[in-house]
Amino acid sequence: MRQIDHFISGGAGASASRFAEIMDPNNGGVQARVVLGDANILERAVQAALAAQPAWETTNPQRRARVMFEFKRLVEANMDELAHMLSAEHGKVIADSKGDIQRGLEVIEFCCGIPHVMKGEYSQGAGPGIDVYSMRQPIGIGAGITPFNFPAMIPLWMSGPAIATGNAFIIKPSERDPSVPVRLAELFIEAGLPEGICQVVHGDKEMVDAILDHPAIGAISFVGSSDIAHYVYHRGVAKGKRVQAMGGAKNHGIVMPDADLDQVVNDLTGAAFGSAGERCMALPVVVPVGDDTAERLKAKLIPAIEALRVGVSTDAEAHYGPVVTAQHKAKVEGWIQTCVDEGGELIIDGRGFKLQGHEEGFFIGPTLFDHVTTDMESYKEEIFGPVLQMVRAASFEEALALPSKHQYGNGVAIFTRNGHAAREFASRVNVGMVGINVPIPVPVAYHSFGGWKRSGFGDTDQYGMEGIKFWTKVKKITQRWPDGAPDGGNAFVIPTMG
Ligand code: NAD
Repeated sequence: MRQIDHFISGGAGASASRFAEIMDPNNGGVQARVVLGDANILERAVQAALAAQPAWETTNPQRRARVMFEFKRLVEANMDELAHMLSAEHGKVIADSKGDIQRGLEVIEFCCGIPHVMKGEYSQGAGPGIDVYSMRQPIGIGAGITPFNFPAMIPLWMSGPAIATGNAFIIKPSERDPSVPVRLAELFIEAGLPEGICQVVHGDKEMVDAILDHPAIGAISFVGSSDIAHYVYHRGVAKGKRVQAMGGAKNHGIVMPDADLDQVVNDLTGAAFGSAGERCMALPVVVPVGDDTAERLKAKLIPAIEALRVGVSTDAEAHYGPVVTAQHKAKVEGWIQTCVDEGGELIIDGRGFKLQGHEEGFFIGPTLFDHVTTDMESYKEEIFGPVLQMVRAASFEEALALPSKHQYGNGVAIFTRNGHAAREFASRVNVGMVGINVPIPVPVAYHSFGGWKRSGFGDTDQYGMEGIKFWTKVKKITQRWPDGAPDGGNAFVIPTMG
């Protein structure tokens, strides 16, 4: 059976006694196994990082940028191979797999400008003969712990800024689809990155805990579910590390009575069911304002959902593929039952969906509920599958309150032709990322990504300038070059600029 190994110091890592199975979501079988590492494996990676990092930090930023340029070229040249590898383990369709890689690559493009964005600030003459300036320096060794649902984009969100700023970076990808991060690390080396600067260690909680506890790792970026994000944040911070930990989501799409419903239905079906709903920026809750809007929307939504094509991930015509594992399929179907038991009106039931010739694949048909209410557990929690819940609101204020009061605050969208309503919504909603007639408002690479409330712990977002801040420390220097003349100052009084 194919085995996926650690990637330490530019090559495959040591033997292992524990493994996790990599499933084939299209067919339900086991396609490979990944080694599960421990503190000893991590120690090897940390030692390699410690040996390589000082020279990388002092490599001038233009040369570091050139590695990013070449890496970008190599990822583009290998796009098909990477997309098929990603799709085979995750189950998302090929076009969407390419999108996953491309959104990560856009962060690498941003990192090609690292000489510019790392420049410090300078104030000449802050006092008599005194200048004050600042410089950004890398943390040293950083680590990334990533979820299964974006096996290219999220490792690239982290590795690009971490490496470009002069750190050594160790990634611990999801044990459910770990092949793409290893391939990306290989391409970094091919692009000219020194060995030991981008490494991959595999594992589960044991490896995550080893990373959280290792004294040489100074910064940890995590993306995954909220309970684990919370745990990672607390344990990492308690060990004196800088931690950013992005968690789960339950994004709402508010539909105002004046919205263009054909556009809404088009956007909503893609955002709710694309990637089988396994996106932290999916739109699994739709909130029509007013019963009339709800009825008009439902009438258009039902045929659009019924027309969706669920297929194997290599089917170019399919809108979405299987979910990642049998356990995840059972969990999503369990939530559908919970919503039924709680009184949600099941309009379209995706359970029991079988794809001919792929009966053992982890497929779930698209599912639609109406009359979901805020007291239901299935509304409060993240389902992370192809399930759309309609929660009706009587007014704009009621609609605004729903995402604002929800435990998660990752993304939200409003669909309207009314600029005033949109502006009001954007400024008042208690959510980190807002789309105005944009269903999945993932900010572009030169802005930053991050949710609020239980969708994000820590205070620095991913990528853009926030990413640069996260992976660097600012050193502040105050200098004077006295010429020997007496300055008459009193050295015993705290200096002021008065
Ligand atoms: P997950 O929390 O199960 O796993 C994430 C990482 O944590 C993996 O590397 C995993 O190995 C590790 N892990 C799992 N259990 C652990 C434990 N007990 N202790 C320590 N580490 C552990 O998440 P997932 O199922 O892979 O990904 C889906 C989740 O990620 C969803 O909740 C989704 O909303 C969220 N997500 C959030 C964002 C965001 O930016 N906010 C982006 C993508 C995904």
